[in-house]
Amino acid sequence: MHPHLLPQDVGWLEVIAGCMYSGKTEELIRRVRRAQYARQPVIVFSPAIDRRFSQDCVDSHSGHSIKSVKVARSADIPALVGDALVVGIDEAQFFDDELVSVANDLAKAGKRVVVAGLDLDYKGKPFNPMPSLLATAEYIDKMLAICVVCGNPADRSQRIVNRDARVLVGEKDAYEARCRRCWDPDNFAPSQEHLPFAMGRNLAEEE
Ligand code: ADP
Ligand code: ZN
Repeated sequence: MHPHLLPQDVGWLEVIAGCMYSGKTEELIRRVRRAQYARQPVIVFSPAIDRRFSQDCVDSHSGHSIKSVKVARSADIPALVGDALVVGIDEAQFFDDELVSVANDLAKAGKRVVVAGLDLDYKGKPFNPMPSLLATAEYIDKMLAICVVCGNPADRSQRIVNRDARVLVGEKDAYEARCRRCWDPDNFAPSQEHLPFAMGRNLAEEE
């Protein structure tokens, strides 16, 4: 849930959690865009995993994107917020633990802070700093993807390349969305291309 009544003169923290492909970035972009329609100044941050500092974009898997400022450390964020009333932060799981106090301090200072991130890593372990962000937020949403094996709601990120690193930088297609039942952190085989159910078929086109 995010606020349906508009709180006045206070800030707050909203967290959008979920697995890969669950629509976290899409939802973050949607909320930030609606704030822009309301003529509220916004700023979006994302982690510069390669430690460079640059102006860039946050992109969703569905092709939506919004301008973001890349920062190497969460401590860099407060000085860059300026007059923004709405502060978006994507890929929170790639930030350091200080993001928890940074986000809460911004909320305390009257900002609406919207954070999106993976709540679990590919081994199914809670991904810091998300647990503490979830615990300190006023509003949280858990997004679900669609399991590519069985079509049920999916809450897990299945790694389909056999690598030990917790974070894979620049590895596209290294994950699939899977449900609890179909997810297996020790088996890196991708799901079969042809699914045993009719997901994605447009019956109107087949007539
Ligand atoms: P996240 O930020 O959670 O990784 P995105 O917002 O970037 O997710 O992308 C969500 C989009 O991914 C969906 O709207 C859909 O177009 C696409 N998508 C691809 N595979 C799946 C899947 N298995 N389940 C749901 N959406 C998927
Ligand atoms: Zn499944």
